[in-house]
Amino acid sequence: MHEFDLIGVIRDRCAVAREDVRLGIGDDAALLAVPAGHILAVSTDTLVAGVHFSQSTKAFDVGWKSLAVNLSDLAAMGATPAWATLALTLPGADAQWVGQFADGFAALAGEFKLALVGGDTTQGPLSITITVHGFVPDGAALLRSGARVGDGVYVTGTLGDAAAGLRCLDPAEGAAAGSRPAPSTSYATLIERLDRPTPRVAQGLALRGRASACIDISDGLVADLGHICAASGVGAEIDVESLPASSALLGACDAATRHVLQLAGGDDYELCFTAGDAEALLLPGDLARSGCGATRIGRIVAGYGVSIRDADGNPVVVTRPGWRHFT
Ligand code: ADP
Ligand code: MG
Repeated sequence: MHEFDLIGVIRDRCAVAREDVRLGIGDDAALLAVPAGHILAVSTDTLVAGVHFSQSTKAFDVGWKSLAVNLSDLAAMGATPAWATLALTLPGADAQWVGQFADGFAALAGEFKLALVGGDTTQGPLSITITVHGFVPDGAALLRSGARVGDGVYVTGTLGDAAAGLRCLDPAEGAAAGSRPAPSTSYATLIERLDRPTPRVAQGLALRGRASACIDISDGLVADLGHICAASGVGAEIDVESLPASSALLGACDAATRHVLQLAGGDDYELCFTAGDAEALLLPGDLARSGCGATRIGRIVAGYGVSIRDADGNPVVVTRPGWRHFT
């Protein structure tokens, strides 16, 4: 097994035919055609073993999640996924691991007819860098900077499951959060949300022309909504009791722990967006057709930063608003 055998393993499992791929894997560069009237949305994310996933995570799930976190960024821009490149750094030429990784990547890529058009394969500590390319009609992309005072704040799906799943796997993280989910069958559901996030691509497309601002929640709701606030020059108020939770999460921990996970846990890969009242009236139908609804969790206000209120209107303080590298 050497580099080119491994590339062959990946290429064979990730074959997706697209008219706009004039030349894919095999030459010095891919040749790709962007449809008329559209612009490219391009995003890169790296997953490092021991930082973004544990050594015990299944290769299939690493492949799935590496692509999912990238597709989530395209979703947040309202872009349609088209192509990806994959830079893979491997400690050794483990064809079985690479095959299972490629199967996980391909399972998700196939859902979106996304073509793997190139990459790089190197030896070193396990790490995966994917760059995704998507199309968006010129002028239609969802930005972080469009939130206006009076807009509602919404999230798709539910929050906190992935962070709870991490605490199921890692008791030390549980101690940091205050408590650990009680052992139950919901464990598997929570861990599945951590290992195989669902990028909200269809929801991002449904939000074009509706949402005033949008971001995907990777680092935690408060941290990521904070980016919308900073980019838009506004503040946000969140009602903690309105945060959507899955039945698995509701069954796994008490309310105080749940709120920490929902506000600051991260790894949700849901969309957080803002919309004016007129646009919000149209959202339930748009999102129902996309297969995943959204919940109103607060409002955009004058000022800066994200403030959180409990049911009595008292402030809730979040000590660890979200994941950060280098701290
Ligand atoms: P070069 O030396 O010209 O950079 P490489 O030998 O690195 O080319 O790669 C050969 C071909 O295989 C290229 O088309 C490259 O894009 C593709 N490739 C390499 N690694 C990967 C990978 N991990 N996934 C997908 N394509 C890859
Ligand atoms: Mg070359």
